[in-house]
Amino acid sequence: MATRVAVMYLGRIVEIASADSIFTTPRHPYTAALLSAIPAMPSSSRKPRRIPLAGDPPSPMRIPPGCRFQTRCWLRETLDSPEICSAIDPTLSGAGDHQSACHFQHHVDARRGA
Ligand code: SF4
Repeated sequence: MATRVAVMYLGRIVEIASADSIFTTPRHPYTAALLSAIPAMPSSSRKPRRIPLAGDPPSPMRIPPGCRFQTRCWLRETLDSPEICSAIDPTLSGAGDHQSACHFQHHVDARRGA
């Protein structure tokens, strides 16, 4: 039971929001991949697309420059690997109390069902 949820990747919060907001409209591709792994009941109308994550997390001793999720990011691939992902480490930002550390957070929800 929680009213706010924080998602961490490689030792840092990459998304934080109310439980309702994070479960209905995740704004970080890692959160979207985690949610896609929740099994749906056979009778459920919810049939989310499974988002597999390739590879393993990098060593905490060798975190890549730029976004720490870039080596496994499915969203980055759909955007043709924009340079900013490997150049600038995204910080938490967003509207209201829903914050995400992704330069393309407003593309996550539309593309996760693609
Ligand atoms: S900033 Fe780029 S690499 Fe990082 S999560 Fe967003 S799309 Fe993926």
